[in-house]
Amino acid sequence: MLVVMKHRASEAEIDSVVHAIRDMGYDARPIPGAQRTAVGLIGNDGHVDTARLEGMPGVQQCITVTQPFKQVSREWKEDDTVVTLANGTRIGGSEIAVMAGPCAVENEQQIMEAATALRKMGATVLRGGAFKPRTSPYSFQGLGEEGLKLLAKAREETGMAIVTEAVDPDGVDLVAEYADIIQIGARNMQNYPLLRRAGRSGTPVLLKRGMSATIDEWLLAAEYLLAEGNDDVILCERGIRAFNTHTRNVFDLSAIPVVKELSHLPVIADPSHATGIRSKVVPMARAAVAAGADGLIVEVHPDPPSALSDGAQSLYFEQFAELMEQSRVIARSIDRDLLAGL
Ligand code: PEP
Ligand code: MN
Repeated sequence: MLVVMKHRASEAEIDSVVHAIRDMGYDARPIPGAQRTAVGLIGNDGHVDTARLEGMPGVQQCITVTQPFKQVSREWKEDDTVVTLANGTRIGGSEIAVMAGPCAVENEQQIMEAATALRKMGATVLRGGAFKPRTSPYSFQGLGEEGLKLLAKAREETGMAIVTEAVDPDGVDLVAEYADIIQIGARNMQNYPLLRRAGRSGTPVLLKRGMSATIDEWLLAAEYLLAEGNDDVILCERGIRAFNTHTRNVFDLSAIPVVKELSHLPVIADPSHATGIRSKVVPMARAAVAAGADGLIVEVHPDPPSALSDGAQSLYFEQFAELMEQSRVIARSIDRDLLAGL
């Protein structure tokens, strides 16, 4: 439930509402906004007696949030959430942020070469898995902590922020030591212990859509992160499973405007996993920007044919340069811009 304060409600009036909610045995979260301040009431699993709150000075009205996901919804918070990283990259503002890098960190030369080239071309966040959740147990599983150290070195040398995946609850703290954004992969979208731990990490989280997840299930997974106190959540559409075999997944482009309407959280697109085919990545990146995505996450490798994972969908550097160029033109046509460089 949401207690909406009057336009000119004072700090003291807001504080009194927070105290009253806590006194009633619930948790209270003030949500400042451009138009109004509201106080969210959480911890209720049923009817709340609103009469006491409605009668308090400065209160305009009490609203029941109708969506099953509460804190993630636009009803809860009208204004867009902007996630700001230590290197200044903002995700969810007017500029479109670009995250790029190989599927997996393979060795020092590979990740440094990728980071240096991508930084020059304008990417501000470097991706690269150190822990890889592979479909087959016999595929390359990642370098583990050694991979995280190489990512940290790349950040030191280029200034790029790091996004990398945590695959289990016990791995979250280790990943958070090195990463600017913890990625939760499609295969783990409904791993609730992992979500809870990432929600308590204090580090921004990139939550990929599960390959068979509905939009409501995806947003409810995000709710776990916010419920644990982490507001810095970025959603990522990466394609869903369907009957078509010509691409790896089916890119659900319409999910982008749908989620933007339902939620205040930033939404980015991953055209690499969505298509699985290098030649389809740039067209779908263009489409994602046109559809209103707040950012892109793209696999790029210095030598895609030799990649230890996802080589077929990894771009060559020249293709990435083209993606940046074309995305910038599209962004500007819809009154946005591409964040290119730090
Ligand atoms: C990845 O980003 O390399 C990855 C494994 O993605 P997803 O979880 O979307 O399959
Ligand atoms: Mn991959």
